[in-house]
Amino acid sequence: MTEGPAGGAPAGGAPTGAGPVRTCVGCRRRDDQAALLRVVAGGTSVLVDARHRSPGRGAYLHPEPACVAAAVKRRAFARALRCPVDAAAAGSVVAAHLDAGIALGRRGGTG
Ligand SMILES: [Zn+2]
Repeated sequence: MTEGPAGGAPAGGAPTGAGPVRTCVGCRRRDDQAALLRVVAGGTSVLVDARHRSPGRGAYLHPEPACVAAAVKRRAFARALRCPVDAAAAGSVVAAHLDAGIALGRRGGTG
C-alpha cells in the first residue's frame, strides 16, 4: 500500500478531524462533512445541496446507492429533516443525482 500525495483526500472512511463531521443517514457512520452529500427538504421531497449552501436543516449521507437505499428504507430523510418527506421520492432525487455524477465517469452500457 502506498500513501497518496500529502494534502489529498484520505483513503478509507475514518474522519480526519480536519473539518466538521456528520453522520450518514444511510449507514449511520460518521464521516467528514466534505465527503458526504447534503440534502435539504423541498416540499414532500428533497433537494440535493451540492454546494452545502442551502439554508435550513440538512441531512447528510454518503453519495453511494447503498446508503441512499438504507436511508429510504428507514425513512431517515423525514426524520433527519423533520419534514414530511416522501421516502421514495427523496430516494429517487438523490439516486438521480448520483446517477448523473456516476454517468460522467462511466462509459455507459449497463445491462
Ligand atoms: Zn453512508
